Amino acid sequence: MPVDDPSLNDTRHDLGRLKTMTERLPGIVFQFYRSHRGHSRFPYLAGDSDLFGDAANRERLAEDASHAFDHVHPDDFPRVMVAVERSAKSLTLLTTQFRHCEPGGEEYWVAVRATPERLRTGILWHGMMVDISEQVDYQTRLRELSDTDDLTGLANRRKLMSLLGREIALSNRHATPLSLMMIDIDHFKRINDTWGHLQGDKVLQRLADLCRSQIRKEDCLARLGGEEFAVLMPLTSLSHARTLAERLRHDVARHDFGLPEGCITISTGIAEHRIGELRDQFLERTDQCLYAAKHQGRNLVVADTR
Ligand code: GH3
Ligand code: MG
Ligand code: MG
Repeated sequence: MPVDDPSLNDTRHDLGRLKTMTERLPGIVFQFYRSHRGHSRFPYLAGDSDLFGDAANRERLAEDASHAFDHVHPDDFPRVMVAVERSAKSLTLLTTQFRHCEPGGEEYWVAVRATPERLRTGILWHGMMVDISEQVDYQTRLRELSDTDDLTGLANRRKLMSLLGREIALSNRHATPLSLMMIDIDHFKRINDTWGHLQGDKVLQRLADLCRSQIRKEDCLARLGGEEFAVLMPLTSLSHARTLAERLRHDVARHDFGLPEGCITISTGIAEHRIGELRDQFLERTDQCLYAAKHQGRNLVVADTR
């Protein structure tokens, strides 16, 4: 279909048009060069982005790229370097992302894609960078939602399982204690049957608040589902976990849930991770303690002391 504006069809001005376009791109197009000796620079930088500052700064970067790296968040810097190294070695697409830090403390996320080309004296990448802060915020929000229990705002089972895997790995590596507590409300079905499901929901929320107020910020309190909760306690021995569990059990039994006193009690199982033990075995041992607490009469804490 013919285009209305004649300048759009005028191929004589392709170079000028390319220049205008790259200067107005909502991101950066660049060439990044690294010599075999390790000196790096940006021979070409264009785009409508604050990422590389004003023209004077871009001129400096044309001679020396190190100023640009000063703005990469220190936690992301090693990852960026590894990606550059890998791309240089294998001559495959450089793809990474990092936080760019402004002197005022403002941060934004930047995605990089660049194709490497081997030159006689080094490697030259041809690439682009785009601000992806909005997408990263959105992903973070989605992740938070998928990790959170709707009713109580606590971590859900999925989140607990992922943290448990990580904490078990740390406990194995450093031989540090790690304890797990499983909590189940006693005769909760009766509460629903007697006072209604909505009242049951309020009890779950208040119990979540009560537990939250008792744990440390390093601990993870999660709702496993229904009327079952768990507390994962890094750097905590079984005896400390038991002290916390007893205090919780005591406080729950005396807490005002808006129901006749003593209606709400909890049974709790606790276990300490054994070095080398798999996640599911650890969960199973804790669950068996909870089952024993139910079996022995409820409103009890049972710890795996074997
Ligand atoms: P036990 O002491 O053996 O644990 O008895 P229980 O009645 O607590 O255990 P059971 O597993 O028989 O019943 C659990 C009840 O929890 C049944 C279910 O309706 C209720 N429940 C599960 N999820 C929710 C929820 O989100 N809200 C409410 N109000 N009730 C729930
Ligand atoms: Mg249950
Ligand atoms: Mg129950």
